[in-house]
Amino acid sequence: MAAYFCSEASEISNTNAGGGAGWKAGVQPIASRAILQTIAAMPTTAFTSAYDSLCHHVSQTALLTSIENVLCWDERTQMPPEAGPYRAVQRSFLAGEIHRRRTDPRLGEWLAILADSPLATDPYSDAGATIRWIQRGYEKQKKLPQSLVEELAETASQAEQVWSEAHKANSFATFQPLLERMIELKKQQAAAYGYNKTPYDPLLDDFEPDATADDIQIILTDLAEELVPLVRAIDRSARQPDINILWQPCSIGAQDVFNRSIAEAIGYSFAAGRLDTTHHPFTVTLGPQDTRITTRYDEHFMPSALFSTLHEVGHALYEQGLPDEHFGLPLGEFVSLGIHESQSRLWENLVGRSRPFWEYLFPAAQDAFPDALGNETLDSFYFAINSVQPSFIRVEADEVTYNLHILIRFELEQAMLTGDLVVADLPGAWNEKYAAYLGIEPPNDSDGCLQDVHWAAGLIGYFPTYALGNLYAAQFYAQAQADLKDLGSLLSRGEFAPLLEWLRSNIYQHGQRYTASELVLRATGRPLSHEALLTSLRTKLGPLYSV
Ligand code: ZN
Repeated sequence: MAAYFCSEASEISNTNAGGGAGWKAGVQPIASRAILQTIAAMPTTAFTSAYDSLCHHVSQTALLTSIENVLCWDERTQMPPEAGPYRAVQRSFLAGEIHRRRTDPRLGEWLAILADSPLATDPYSDAGATIRWIQRGYEKQKKLPQSLVEELAETASQAEQVWSEAHKANSFATFQPLLERMIELKKQQAAAYGYNKTPYDPLLDDFEPDATADDIQIILTDLAEELVPLVRAIDRSARQPDINILWQPCSIGAQDVFNRSIAEAIGYSFAAGRLDTTHHPFTVTLGPQDTRITTRYDEHFMPSALFSTLHEVGHALYEQGLPDEHFGLPLGEFVSLGIHESQSRLWENLVGRSRPFWEYLFPAAQDAFPDALGNETLDSFYFAINSVQPSFIRVEADEVTYNLHILIRFELEQAMLTGDLVVADLPGAWNEKYAAYLGIEPPNDSDGCLQDVHWAAGLIGYFPTYALGNLYAAQFYAQAQADLKDLGSLLSRGEFAPLLEWLRSNIYQHGQRYTASELVLRATGRPLSHEALLTSLRTKLGPLYSV
């Protein structure tokens, strides 16, 4: 499946509903054959044949999506501007072929044969998990009428353009009719999928399979109850960092060398990837052994590229750690966007903003940027990169307030979908929530409800995956600390391999064998909660801000 990971929706394709991609071209599912051969006394011919056909078909689709990813990567990093129109034709052609293959009625026939077969009995076996996830994606996709799929795509394309203009002109009225149309279509999409409790659930499920609005509401509300007073206390604290030390000239060349060395030290393989520059950083996998990352440099603000590189490296380590032999099939795919985001946040925030990490790296940073950091101390640098300050813009938010930006969007998009909030009232509702949760009120809609492209793009139910990423990351990290005993001292010596190995064995290697909630339970021994994130933030920020 085509997938981009980053913190801005314009870089992320909405693909998780596709349900699996496939094996490498021409490679038959040898491992699956071995499993099949062990199942005695069954009409293996029919099952084997259906399973092989299913895997082969899905593998060929993955071949096409990997080609699509090559085109996307090229478009965002290398392509000359005048190549745009023909590139659009190429991509549209491929998108059509991929959609046709994903809705091929033969998928339904093979899945029907396999549904009651011994292959599907154990949902955690290679074959069982593969069948389960392909079935899941196929069932959802086929519920959507072709006309609705086309209208959603067309409206999104139009709404994104109008949003871009409205954002520049600070004109919500311009965007309002398009957003109204999009919400209406998303209601239709939810109705076509079907749901028990709220239309939000099946939309959320496209990005975070099996999660529900109720789950998210409980966990984010619990978190907010603790974070809101924490943010207020930090705001009132007499101890504040000097963030000006981060705003100093650092040559792009020196930043590039420094960031590459960190990426490599952490475990990113440049033999199976690349680092390039782009406008909005993203990560993309073009095939087994080819996961590429991107960043953007600001000559006057070194942390921008540094933390964006750490973020994308986190996504890439997950991709590089998925089993190659299952590339394109569910066992070789990431489990959910929330889990994917947890890996980027873990390296960006839990490791990258930790004191042990900078005990190791700060001398090297001073060598790399002598004019900017030569006379600074580790303490002042560490405090500055952990600065907390309520702000209007989500993508610029710190580790604490970020989650409140998400809660606001989650509550508002649900309310629009259920009809509790009419689109015309969005700007006022937005500002009220910013006042309530962050104690600030946006000066205009461009810095308020017009700041994100997600709703224009039809990505309703996407925002929670960012906060889930933070929550999963903290819980995984706390468990890794418990299991590895002296993780802090390992990091302070630049020894990242034990943590990476923990992540590989507890998360990466499983692909989609387990759901996100099963994975968290297996890896940490308890269901997801807000506790680990809160503890981590309090432990770090308490001493810094004396709160
Ligand atoms: Zn990300």
